[in-house]
Amino acid sequence: MMVLTRRGILGMAAGGVAATLSLGGPARADRVLIVGGGAAGMTAVRVLRRNAPESKLVLVDRYPGRDAAALPAKGVAVFRDEIGDVDWASGTAFGRNGARYGFDRLVLAPGIGFETAGIAGYDLLALDSLAPYWSGAEDEAKLMRRVDALETGSTVVITVPPRPYRFAAGPYLRAARITDRLGVRGKVLLVDANPTLPDEASFDCRVERIVEPVIAVDSRAPSVSTPSGRLTGDLINVIPPQSAGPLARRAGLAAADGWCPVDPASGRSLLRSRAFVIGDAADHPDKTAAAAAAQARRLAEAVV
Ligand SMILES: Cc1cc2nc3c(=O)[nH]c(=O)nc-3n(C[C@H](O)[C@H](O)[C@H](O)COP(=O)(O)OP(=O)(O)OC[C@H]3O[C@@H](n4cnc5c(N)ncnc54)[C@H](O)[C@@H]3O)c2cc1C
Repeated sequence: MMVLTRRGILGMAAGGVAATLSLGGPARADRVLIVGGGAAGMTAVRVLRRNAPESKLVLVDRYPGRDAAALPAKGVAVFRDEIGDVDWASGTAFGRNGARYGFDRLVLAPGIGFETAGIAGYDLLALDSLAPYWSGAEDEAKLMRRVDALETGSTVVITVPPRPYRFAAGPYLRAARITDRLGVRGKVLLVDANPTLPDEASFDCRVERIVEPVIAVDSRAPSVSTPSGRLTGDLINVIPPQSAGPLARRAGLAAADGWCPVDPASGRSLLRSRAFVIGDAADHPDKTAAAAAAQARRLAEAVV
């Protein structure tokens, strides 16, 4: 894929055309920086390109996806970098290796982060052996390979974090899929922090479910603990509590609950008027790719 160099973006800026981009407000803004090129960020880039053709769009992602390769040909500068911090006074976002990205408007779409501090024993080893597998299809395939390697009589434990979290129906779908895959070889136990099921989830009655939060894990003698005791399993999939991706907090865009409060009509941050937050990081309860894309379209359609 083509990723523009720092020199590339400076070249674009020098030759760029001044444009007025209001993003729902009266201020002049011709540089829009989009951080995060997942479901939300990529949709925002595409619709902004169409609705505000003269604006300068810059997309930064630590791992730009395959679809980002087509963007430079459409005049969108793409950088593989991780934004570590944001200075609102100067309108600058800082990359890992000293790169600076100036902006008039910042669209943040960093997805989720895991909140493991409240789970005793959740160290780096736990992150590996009791892994969440909660990033997407590739992760799900890795988990299924581990399921296939289980012996007869196995128990798979899946822990469900308190809502909101990414893809609320996901753990229940996963439990049903693993139950199918195991057949007579074993069973699935869901340890669910939520007393009720999400509206969109259907529950497979072959799955055993206990309603309790996870308070500790042990990756050496694989187990999870709830206030009532310790549960062991042959494969343990801990899906930790979640919040907006860590950059949201560092940039001052997250509230005390870890999610970013926004105006639902436009995605504009309620904490910083130059910022927009879309996708799973926003304080919207529906954390799916479909909702992320819809939010991105609303944001981009606010451009006049
Ligand atoms: C197992 C599973 C199955 C799912 N199935 C469905 C489904 O069937 N249908 C559906 O609609 N949704 C589904 N989802 C939910 C969907 O994947 C998410 O809601 C969606 O990906 C959210 O998009 P996003 O753009 O907010 O975040 P992401 O897609 O996670 O994108 C965030 C991007 O930001 C980048 N980033 C983060 N921080 C930085 C930084 N500091 N600097 C630079 N880049 C950064 C990341 O590299 C990433 O590319 C599923 C989720 C899971 C876990």
